[in-house]
Amino acid sequence: TMTIAGIFDLTVSKFPNKDALYDVRKDLRFTYREWSLEVNKLANALLQQGVRKGDRVTTYLYNTEELATAYFACASIGAVFNPINFRLMSEEVAFILQDAEPKVVIFEESLESGIRPIADRFPHIAFWFIDEHTPAYANNYHKKVKAAPSTNIEADVQAEDIYAIMYTSGTTGRPKGVLHRHRDMAEQSLVVLNAVKYDSRDNGLVTAPMFHCAELHCAFLPRVHIGAKNTILHQFDAKKVLELIHHEKITKLFAAPTMWNMLLQEDLNQYNLESLDTGLYGAAPMAPALIFACREKLGVKLVQAYGMTEMGPAITFLGDDDQICKSGSAGQACLNHEIRIVVPNEEGPSNPNNVVPAGETGEIIVRGPSMMKGYFNREESSKNALVDGWYLSGDIGYLDDEGFLYVKDRVDDMIISGGENIYPREVEDVLHSHEGVLDVAVLGQPDDHWGELVTAFVVKKDSNITEEELDQLCKSSEELANFKRPRKYIFCEALPRNASGKIQKFLLRKQMESIITE
Ligand code: AMP
Ligand code: MG
Repeated sequence: TMTIAGIFDLTVSKFPNKDALYDVRKDLRFTYREWSLEVNKLANALLQQGVRKGDRVTTYLYNTEELATAYFACASIGAVFNPINFRLMSEEVAFILQDAEPKVVIFEESLESGIRPIADRFPHIAFWFIDEHTPAYANNYHKKVKAAPSTNIEADVQAEDIYAIMYTSGTTGRPKGVLHRHRDMAEQSLVVLNAVKYDSRDNGLVTAPMFHCAELHCAFLPRVHIGAKNTILHQFDAKKVLELIHHEKITKLFAAPTMWNMLLQEDLNQYNLESLDTGLYGAAPMAPALIFACREKLGVKLVQAYGMTEMGPAITFLGDDDQICKSGSAGQACLNHEIRIVVPNEEGPSNPNNVVPAGETGEIIVRGPSMMKGYFNREESSKNALVDGWYLSGDIGYLDDEGFLYVKDRVDDMIISGGENIYPREVEDVLHSHEGVLDVAVLGQPDDHWGELVTAFVVKKDSNITEEELDQLCKSSEELANFKRPRKYIFCEALPRNASGKIQKFLLRKQMESIITE
């Protein structure tokens, strides 16, 4: 198995003069050879800063050439790459810096407010700033890098060594650092290359966040692996994406379903989109109407990926041919990976051998070569997540008779009322179908008689809707058994969400407790 640096070096030696990178914001273009010199310079600059094998290097950046370069520079010296979410606020950044203890943090001007208030709490960290007006507590990244030699580094880095810590979004509390080895990601890259069929003539647009392993490993890395080009856009912007497809002849694009929807809202006649051949999406299934619109108006074949940071992330793919006939599915287990559905256990880790009868719903567990090593500094969490070689995903779903996976909900969110399992998403979907509902979250409220009482938090779009009306909607729905009907409604102004936009149900649970004790 190769290391991440090994993958990069081989591509550089095969395609030295091929276009490797285009940073749109800076209008900067690198061939593979030019980029490799840049990677070497950063690697040497990090060594000069005292960074050694196993030390962490944090990037707090939007999509930039510097993030892409840091990815391979860290890999080449065996430093642990730690990209963090650019949406995090200063105290959330501080939490990760305390946990990961990096030697260097690379950040940019538009995120300076996330570092400034906390920088003096971390006297042992070197802060490197990539833009022009370097604040007093930081060094200028480009000055450091320019001064460093571009000589290749022969470091003792093995496939078993840790190459990254990626913090998960954490809808249940504090983020956890997922540890991946070089070999996990080399395997993930092969799995993606098999499913998406990138080739060296591709020009992929990087517009989903690169701090997240979906863009990084389902798009960016496999394209480097195969010798294709990456065009890096600072942040998603529908018009810019369409302009780039037109002018740069983009062939592959990864984006969440909402972003595909945003592209379709634009005046598409202005652009020549013929080059675009494949669209990747993840995080949720696409509705059939959106699938048809993407195919007809953007001319793309679609591939859905499902997975999680702990698995690097992809563990299933749904190919273009199955988008409609397997609507709502996340696809089949990817190469070398195996999926099982087991009886969910809310009290502790589920038993990997407690498999549910065929076709039934339960916890999704998975094993395969791209699995994380564990969580950084979290032995207990690691033990609960990795059991007998399986990763317990905490997602709820089922497999059909052809092995297609349908993802339904989260184990932690499952409500048990009167001995029946209730998946909140089913109830939420019904309530969402009401025109006057802007946002909704369904939870279980502890109850002496029922165990848990189905409770709906509702944000109104129009102030006239009543509890009775919503209850009537649930009663008349063909999609909701009577026992799943919310027995209690709480109207509120907004629902708490984390930096990735996922609802933080643990905060709603706290709110519920305080309502009960009042
Ligand atoms: P993260 O670790 O941030 O990538 O979040 C992973 C979680 O996102 C999974 O455990 C799922 O709950 C959800 N997820 C990711 N991809 C999909 C998908 N294609 N369909 C449904 N849920 C998904
Ligand atoms: Mg096309």
